[in-house]
Amino acid sequence: MSERVIRVFDTTLRDGEQTPGVSLTPNEKLEIAKALDKLGVDVIEAGFPITSKGEQEGIRLISKAGLRAEICGLARADKADIDTAINCGISGIHVFLASSDIHLEHKLHITREQMLKQSADAVRYAKSFGVKVEFSAEDATRTDIEFFKRVVKAVTDAGIDRFDIPDTVGIATPQRITDYVKAARSVSDAMISMHCHNDYGMAVANSLAGILAGADQAHLTVNGIGERSGNTSLEEFVMGCHNLYGWRTNIDYSLLYETSRRVAGLTGVVIQPNKAIVGDNAFGHESGIHTHGILSNPSTYEPFDPSMVGRSRWLQAGKHAGRHGVAAQLRAMGLKPKEESLRLIVDKVKETGDKGITITDADLYQIAVQIMGGGSAEKNELVELEGLEVVTGVKRLPTATVRLLVRGHLYEATEVGSGAVDAAVNAIQKIFSNLETVKLKEYRLEALTGDSNAVADVTVKVEDDAGNSASGRGMKRDIVVASVEAIVAGTNALLAKKLNSSGPETPPTQSPAEAIEGV
Ligand code: MN
Repeated sequence: MSERVIRVFDTTLRDGEQTPGVSLTPNEKLEIAKALDKLGVDVIEAGFPITSKGEQEGIRLISKAGLRAEICGLARADKADIDTAINCGISGIHVFLASSDIHLEHKLHITREQMLKQSADAVRYAKSFGVKVEFSAEDATRTDIEFFKRVVKAVTDAGIDRFDIPDTVGIATPQRITDYVKAARSVSDAMISMHCHNDYGMAVANSLAGILAGADQAHLTVNGIGERSGNTSLEEFVMGCHNLYGWRTNIDYSLLYETSRRVAGLTGVVIQPNKAIVGDNAFGHESGIHTHGILSNPSTYEPFDPSMVGRSRWLQAGKHAGRHGVAAQLRAMGLKPKEESLRLIVDKVKETGDKGITITDADLYQIAVQIMGGGSAEKNELVELEGLEVVTGVKRLPTATVRLLVRGHLYEATEVGSGAVDAAVNAIQKIFSNLETVKLKEYRLEALTGDSNAVADVTVKVEDDAGNSASGRGMKRDIVVASVEAIVAGTNALLAKKLNSSGPETPPTQSPAEAIEGV
């Protein structure tokens, strides 16, 4: 195993913010920077100072926050850009100038010789401020490789600390990246960095190929956000380094998931469910064969333990489900059906799944209780919705009052929110803040028909502090009622699991149910 430590240059706040439609306030940038620093990135590219006054304010805030990471700003190869960046109090500067003939002829209208001189001049000027200087030859991978070597040599002689190779339009292959890294290394001893884009879905593979060829650092963004199809995804790249190649990084991997969620929340860029490492489904299992394998040994169908990245695995009941998985899910909720009941429950689950319906934990609980002869599942509910009133309208703050019967005690809370659903969710969370930790982790709304009379189908996932989660659903013509019912259903399923895992009556300690609950 190599003892190499790969450096992480995070550009979530620069290239990531250049995602179409994303715009962060200075304080939001600061919040993300703090999360990145805690995560352990080596460099935070905080922004592109010349862009706007707000951008400069954000970068200044981050520079003054006393973070451990190098705080870097982007600048074109000219004095005004460099001055503006330096004035933000940064400790590193990322200077760039395009080197490909396409960019020189059609964008910059300068010759190759002019490009070399402008780059070297800019590097010398930036270096005079005593900061770290990283130089990017924009569109490097479409640059004539002999000229590329002259660029690397020129800026190395001018005093750069790091040379970055941007695959600006994401057209490189691992082979092409290898050629450029070796070319750069042949004329420079400076640190080499990779900057890859995901236009062909190759960003992570290309970045790793760069490291394999001798590069020291990669430019990454949380969740892979960035221009067009995005940049190299930080979480995928660092897990690839650590788990697949045995290279170290300074990242605290257990913080990857929460960092990803925070960035998704603040940027509004949703994560696709099948996204590696941080997608909802990355550690979810439904098929009977897989859940059976997972229950006897998780490594049968998981590449690594989800707790490594701050996550937990979950099982889903559905048409692909099998007896072992369903039994384990029910055990986690405190239900232990006999063989015959279990068969009927699984039949019902498959029948429901065949209709194209997603079966939440709350649905499964209901199905099981009915089949096991517990009568109406209602009687077993720990939380019941007793009342809900909502006031909303134009130019008034939406307000919701929720009344919940929790283990027989009535609680009421009134809260405001950005909308009626938000107000109701806030009221529920207020009630629970004194009782249990129940946090809303996911909210999905579908309209079952296309008119204003449509049934709102709301599915939620709720989670407690220990990382246990449960899903619930509500279906009503009133979207607020559907949302509240979904949360109440999910909360009941969660409390059932919790009661079962900590209650005095829990008999088996080595049951597979416990194994799947482990964080
Ligand atoms: Mn870029």
